[in-house]
Amino acid sequence: MLDWEQIFASRSSRMKASEIRELLKLLDQPDIISFAGGIPDPALFPDEAFKEAYADIFSSGQVGSALQYSVSEGYKPLREWIVAEVARIGIDCTADNVFITSGSQQALDYLGKLFLSPKDTALVTWPTYLGALSAFNAYEPTYDKLSLNGNRTPEAYRETAAKAGGSVKFAYLSSDFSNPTGETVDLAGRQKLLQLADELDIAILEDAAYQHLRYDGEAVAPIMALDIARNGGIENTRTIYSGSFSKTLAPGLRVGFVIASMPVIRKLVLMKQAADLHSSTINQIAIEHVASRGFDAQVAKIRTVYSRRRDVMLAAMDKYMPKTATWTRPEGGMFVWVTLPEGLDGAELLAKSIATERVAFVPGKAFYADGSNANTLRMSFSCADDAMIEEGIKRLGRLIANALPA
Ligand code: PMP
Repeated sequence: MLDWEQIFASRSSRMKASEIRELLKLLDQPDIISFAGGIPDPALFPDEAFKEAYADIFSSGQVGSALQYSVSEGYKPLREWIVAEVARIGIDCTADNVFITSGSQQALDYLGKLFLSPKDTALVTWPTYLGALSAFNAYEPTYDKLSLNGNRTPEAYRETAAKAGGSVKFAYLSSDFSNPTGETVDLAGRQKLLQLADELDIAILEDAAYQHLRYDGEAVAPIMALDIARNGGIENTRTIYSGSFSKTLAPGLRVGFVIASMPVIRKLVLMKQAADLHSSTINQIAIEHVASRGFDAQVAKIRTVYSRRRDVMLAAMDKYMPKTATWTRPEGGMFVWVTLPEGLDGAELLAKSIATERVAFVPGKAFYADGSNANTLRMSFSCADDAMIEEGIKRLGRLIANALPA
């Protein structure tokens, strides 16, 4: 028998299925109330609009090019639509600065590949999006904790990176309604990050996957917009912005994008030529078709539904969670982040919860680069109706109260 491990590259050693993934496989069972998946509610997909889009593509003279290979940069009308859309939030760029990816997940893989040599340091929030850690892991980095309150000096980051055998390359964060905590970095935090990035001379990867899902409160300018404003244009920025149509239109089409200065875009285009040539031509055309005809109405529709679910989840938590637990009160997105008293383990609680209460969530330690903070949970409200949320939180509150020392 061939010993595969002997011939796999060292980078594959960090590609491991987690125990949590195994537990989450059980979620297909119909009686489980799941707050685990961070996915959009399929009932909210604009399926009629997509039906019309594909019908139009097939009945027009466009079908040949829609089914053909296309350029690695992405479908130009879609890139132009994105330019107009992001101009509304202060990101002033041209279509050349927009690069289409197969979901924003692909952007994370490419950016890991572009910046990280083995042993280099990626600064990430603590906790951070699990999919970003998985994407970066393939490039064998070290992680260090990104602090947004300015209480760590650039020298401290540099020293830690040098000890690990490389240098700091970028800071990654999901700036609005983050996955997993639901929290938003405020303006002061964004400015501190720009200053830190200047001092360390590193890139900022701003993951804006949830940017459109604000339910209340004031919008905060994207880091990319602040960077452009202070530099008088995108070409002098150090921020790389990634966006997605997954949470607003539909994730199954796999269309996302990156906005950056030309040196970064040129490298990404070369990477895409080597990796998958281009993202699906026909899906990019369909996304442009649907977005240009009804993006705002679609966003308004999903905001109404998700904001109500957020309210129902927070009200149920106030009612049923033991007072020793704390949780975030997000202004948007899909997640509430729960912190339990020290000593409780989210993974053990999940196993018990599935067995006895039939309620699922994601144990929080998976979101920490060092696997710490086992006493945390990520709860998603995007796919459950009001009654399920109320019942699920009631059961979970009971389970947590029983798990606490008397
Ligand atoms: N970034 C964040 C913060 C996410 O939560 C997700 C999806 N869960 C992604 C990126 C990737 O999404 P997609 O590839 O569908 O755009």
